[in-house]
Amino acid sequence: MERKLQEYARLLVEVGVNVQKGQTLLLFCPVEHAAFARLCADAAYELGAREVVNVWNDDYMTRQKYLCADEAVFSEFPQWRADMFYFYAKQGAAFLHLRASDPENLLGVDPERIMTANKTAGVAQKRYRELSAKNTFPWSIGCLASPKWAKKIFPALPENEAVAALWEKIFAAVRVKGDGTAVAAWRQHAQNLKRHMKILNDYNFKSLHYKNSLGIDLTVELAENHVWEAGGDTTVSGQDYMPNMPTEECFTAPKKTGINGEIYAAMPLCRDGNVIEGIHFTMKDGKIVEAHATSGEEVLQNAISVDEGASYFGEVALVPYDSPIRQSGILYYDTLYDENASCHFAFGRAYASTLKGGTQMTKEQLAAAGLNDSITHVDFMVGTKDLSITGTTFDGREIPVFVNGNFAF
Ligand code: ZN
Ligand code: ZN
Repeated sequence: MERKLQEYARLLVEVGVNVQKGQTLLLFCPVEHAAFARLCADAAYELGAREVVNVWNDDYMTRQKYLCADEAVFSEFPQWRADMFYFYAKQGAAFLHLRASDPENLLGVDPERIMTANKTAGVAQKRYRELSAKNTFPWSIGCLASPKWAKKIFPALPENEAVAALWEKIFAAVRVKGDGTAVAAWRQHAQNLKRHMKILNDYNFKSLHYKNSLGIDLTVELAENHVWEAGGDTTVSGQDYMPNMPTEECFTAPKKTGINGEIYAAMPLCRDGNVIEGIHFTMKDGKIVEAHATSGEEVLQNAISVDEGASYFGEVALVPYDSPIRQSGILYYDTLYDENASCHFAFGRAYASTLKGGTQMTKEQLAAAGLNDSITHVDFMVGTKDLSITGTTFDGREIPVFVNGNFAF
C-alpha cells in the first residue's frame, strides 16, 4: 500500500502536472490526506520544484459554512484569494488538485446559497480563468479514497474495507501497480488515446448524431475549426500535462447554437454535494429549453442558470463503453471517474484549446467562432451500451463513429 501511494503521488506530480525544475507547485488537498500531500511534496522537490505551496480544504468546514455562516458571505469572495490564484497562475505555477469529497457533503444545504457562492467565485476568478483558458499553466486533478466516498460506493462493506476497496479501484484506474511502471504505462496510454483523436481530426466532422434506447436523439454540430484533444495538453510554454487522472476521453467543442433534440443522462451526476438522477434535457438551437431530473431537479436548475452560457454546451466527449472504468461496473459518484466511464457533454464553457488557434484568440473571437463561455463547466454522462453515433462530414458523407457503445474505428 505504501509503495502504491508513493507511486501514485509521483505519477500525479511527474505526469499529471509534470513539475519542472524551478517551478512552483500549488497543492490543494483535503486535511485528512495530509500524509499523501507530503508524498506529493517530496516527489515535487525531488524533481526540482522551486516551492510547494499547500492549501488545505475540509468537507466539514465547507458544510458548516453553508449551513451556519452569515448569508452575506456567499456573495463575497475575498480579494486576497482571487489574487493568490492569479499570482501563481500568471507565473506559470503547476496546480494540483487532490479530491476526496463525500459526494453528498452538501445534501440539505440551501441550493440558493450554493448557487450564489458559485456565481460569486466564478466572477471573482475571471482573470485566473482566462489564464487557464490560454493554457498559461499546467494543472491536474486526482482523487483519494475517503471513508464517506468509499461507503457511498461500497455501502455493504465495513468502513475500513470500503476505503481499501476504493483505493484498489483508484490504483487500477490510474495504472499504479506499486512496481514503478506507472509513469511509463501512462505515456503509453496517452499515445493510445491519441490514435482515436487523430482519426476524428482527420474526418473533421460537421456534426454528430446520437441515438440509443434511453431516448437520446440528438444532433450536435461541432464548431467549425474544432480540434479533438486527448491524452493530455500542452501549455503555451510547451509543458505537457495531464489535466485529469484518470483520463479516457477524446473531446472537442460543439457549435454553441448547433445542438438540437433530446438527451437522457445515462448515469447520476454528482454536483455541489448533491446527487442528481434521471436528467432529461430538450435542446433547441444549442440551448437547454427543458430540464428535468427525477431527483435533485432544483440543484440542476440552479446549475444551468448561473449565467447565460450555463444553459449551452461547451464540450463533446467520446469514451468507449469498454473503458476500464466503466468495465469496473462501479458508479463512482465523482465526475472525474464517472466522466471517464462514459460519453458525455458539458454544459458551460468550452475549452479554447479545442479550437484551432483558440488559445491565442480573444473572448470575442472565440464567441464568433461558435464557442460557448460561462463561469461554469459541468460534465454529465450519456454513454450506454447501445449508443450509436454517426458523423457527417462537410461533404455529406455519413461515417459510423460509435457502434454499440464503442468506437467504430
Ligand atoms: Zn470531459
Ligand atoms: Zn469537462
